[in-house]
Amino acid sequence: MSIEQRRVLATAIPGPKSTELQQRKKAAVSAGVGVTLPVYIERAGGGILVDVDGNQLIDFGSGIAVTTVGNSAPRVVERVQRQVADFTHTCFMITPYEEYLEVCEALNALTPGDHDKRSALFNSGAEAVENAIKVARAATGRQAVVAFDHAYHGRTNLTMALTAKNMPYKQSFGPFANEIYRVPMAYPYRWPTGSEHCADEAFAMFVNTVHAQVGEANTAAVIVEPIQGEGGFIVPPPGFLSMVADWCTENGIVFIADEIQTGFCRTGDWFASEFEGVVPDLIATAKGIAGGLPLAGVTGRAELMDAVHVGGLGGTYGGNPVACAAALGAIETMRAEDLPGRARIISSIMLPRLRTMAERFELIGDVRGRGAMLAIELVSDRSAKTPDPIATGLISSACHQQGLVTLTAGTFGNVLRFLPPLSIGDELLTEGLDILEAAIVQHLASP
Ligand SMILES: *Cc1c(COP(=O)(O)O)cnc(C)c1O
Repeated sequence: MSIEQRRVLATAIPGPKSTELQQRKKAAVSAGVGVTLPVYIERAGGGILVDVDGNQLIDFGSGIAVTTVGNSAPRVVERVQRQVADFTHTCFMITPYEEYLEVCEALNALTPGDHDKRSALFNSGAEAVENAIKVARAATGRQAVVAFDHAYHGRTNLTMALTAKNMPYKQSFGPFANEIYRVPMAYPYRWPTGSEHCADEAFAMFVNTVHAQVGEANTAAVIVEPIQGEGGFIVPPPGFLSMVADWCTENGIVFIADEIQTGFCRTGDWFASEFEGVVPDLIATAKGIAGGLPLAGVTGRAELMDAVHVGGLGGTYGGNPVACAAALGAIETMRAEDLPGRARIISSIMLPRLRTMAERFELIGDVRGRGAMLAIELVSDRSAKTPDPIATGLISSACHQQGLVTLTAGTFGNVLRFLPPLSIGDELLTEGLDILEAAIVQHLASP
């Protein structure tokens, strides 16, 4: 690894060069494109981001769960360099190429279920979700789509409609696509009658809502993130996803798993659905699939995926050969380095530390997640579970000052989430947790 795996604070965060670039950003880039931490990155690899001022930051974000294999992973770099020299684009819909087939074959083989599958490739997660909905509607001849509270499915018009949170994703951008219906999510920590009742009661509410407000026979699809991402790393209780999936099957409804954030080893399995043996009809993937290059996929039952008329799916760049080469390098890395296993080891290092912090600090109301997708939910009052988005923002910023890249999440903005690249070393993980703990101590000590 060419980048020394060591945190370095060479200047204040952000340093002078980053500050200058941030001024240029204000003059050149739409204000609508926000920046969490305005340090401008020059190189990255392993678990380290190197900025233009020579600071080396510990990465607990992976560019939002994208660089699962690490930045500039050798197998990705090698394949991309070869591909970019051979050819960069023909458009798969005009004159195709083998790399696209190889990615689809890998998706068909790796995703849950051993039924006959087909895949199609796109550029972004939102585009994959849109296409999964297109497939479900075409295959069923139905229109309604059911999504959950706290869901995040993207920022295009249809996916904004599926996304639950208003600010910043939907505010002032309506009207939204219609025939989208929302049901309560099984959110154990905030379930009114207690987490032990969450699975059964949430499932009953789901069934009753779809029956009463939508009608099973009108429902094309139910879409769910097996662990919700932007909504706050909400892990549904055991049994909930299987009940929903089985009920969909009984009613001829397409069950879509949005595994864009959870997929490709992040949660300790290749896909989070596997954890309780759920086999989705369609599965949307993106983020971790291609080591940082833009690529997304929809994979599902052959009879659904093939129900669409010729030419109904596609796009100019979807399954671009360079992005496909990157995906093949990323998948090869995941296999060779047993990255599902690595995600479980990361969990075994991080979870006990986070749980100990929760015992120490009342502020931490909940610790949850799976594999290398972990979070703490911060509350100002443990018994009332009052969300504390202010403390969340301040602690996250304090981590940034110390050279640890952390992200926030949650409908109430009170979740600190951790998504380290699976290429991070144990020492950086531990150091990151030390920084987090110190930031909480410092926050609680400040008036
Ligand atoms: C990020 C994300 C999306 C959207 O992906 P983009 O590539 O940003 O369009 C959709 N669903 C989930 C669960 C995500 O985490």
